Amino acid sequence: MSDDVIKLFVEDARAVSIEDTAKILNLKFSARGHEHPQPCPNCGGTDTFAFNTKKEKWNCRAGGIGGNDGIGMAAHCADLDVRRRDGLLEACSIVLDRDIPDEGERESDQDRAARLQRLEERRQQNEADAAARADSQADFREKERAKARGIIKASSVLVDAAPPQGRYYLRYRCNGFPDASWLRVGANVPYWHGQDERGAPLELFSGPAMVAPFIGPGLVEIGCHITWIDLNEPPKFRPKLFGLTKDGIAAGLVEWAFGDAPPPDVDVADGLYEPLPAKKMRGSKKGGLIPIGGHPEARRWVGGEGIENGVAFGLWEGWRQDTFYFAAGDLGNLSGPAEPSSRFAHPMLKKPDAKGIARAVMIAGPKPKRDQQADDAMWIGDQVDELVLLADGDSEPVMTAAAMARARARHQRPEGQPRRLIPIVWPRAGYDFSRMAVEAGE
Ligand SMILES: [Zn+2]
Repeated sequence: MSDDVIKLFVEDARAVSIEDTAKILNLKFSARGHEHPQPCPNCGGTDTFAFNTKKEKWNCRAGGIGGNDGIGMAAHCADLDVRRRDGLLEACSIVLDRDIPDEGERESDQDRAARLQRLEERRQQNEADAAARADSQADFREKERAKARGIIKASSVLVDAAPPQGRYYLRYRCNGFPDASWLRVGANVPYWHGQDERGAPLELFSGPAMVAPFIGPGLVEIGCHITWIDLNEPPKFRPKLFGLTKDGIAAGLVEWAFGDAPPPDVDVADGLYEPLPAKKMRGSKKGGLIPIGGHPEARRWVGGEGIENGVAFGLWEGWRQDTFYFAAGDLGNLSGPAEPSSRFAHPMLKKPDAKGIARAVMIAGPKPKRDQQADDAMWIGDQVDELVLLADGDSEPVMTAAAMARARARHQRPEGQPRRLIPIVWPRAGYDFSRMAVEAGE
């Protein structure tokens, strides 16, 4: 009879899912997906331990152990040995959140105290390790920001700099440039790509570039945006750059050098070389913005993703005295992340899945994510009453429209405060504002 009670107790525990066990153990759940990596409560480490609520599995790389039931997972996390009867019953008791029936064997009070002591020490060690990792990430970020400030300092104010390429670039791209001192230009800005045999970064080339600071609230420089310039490369007037890929290295090809002819199209199509962006960011951009014209104290702000469209629109408006012109750097920083439940299927676009079946492309929705961080998107001055958002006309229109609607919702003032006027301005279909400005200028 007493044996049956214990058997039933163990069977009840076996029926508890990995998910319920993880909740009882206070394990961490990732925001998305079924896989939940984290430090092992027993062994420590970074992402050594994980459980999967769909596959009903858990494993610990540090302990070299895993399984597919809650009892085993609870036992490992609580440092219990399930091969011993008292260990097994303790683990069942944790999973069920119930005392072991009187008929069962328990671990002695002394063993229990020693075990809980070990786990508490482990918990403290895990916390200390996590804090140390956060510190080293903060160090890295601070170093990157210092590098960005160095690049800004080494460049000169575009509007009256000796190197003329910045002014020419903006004239060619936007039909003019702002009479403000935010944007800068460098005659020889190095472009780093790849590593040498010892792991040191390689300089692919150095050349003229427009340099723009990213500023946070309080106008602190947190990063910089660099656009390399090649006035002989219409229509974008940026150098064409190529890097050797892993496949290219494996095929025994040599690194493309600046000044070389572009690699054969077939090599690029085969993924042996890849085109490299002629724009880069250093330091942080998240939460920051690129000032273009006017001052952030203005009550009217105008801007979109890129510098060129902001310049074109500012020129078209005649650089209004009451307005601050800016760029967010990219669409994500302009609009912030989307609420996952507002994701929707694109009405036309389809993409083949792993099995080759055409599926609708999913688009990040128009609703801002709940509980956002202040730096999940660019900052807006508290005093701003009118925020004019510039849409990109040459990006995919449905995705862009959803992102612009999200930006408008995100940058509105909280309920109960005076509303901001936030119009979204679109260029002519298939155009962006800079191309319209250039054609109008011709
Ligand atoms: Zn472990």
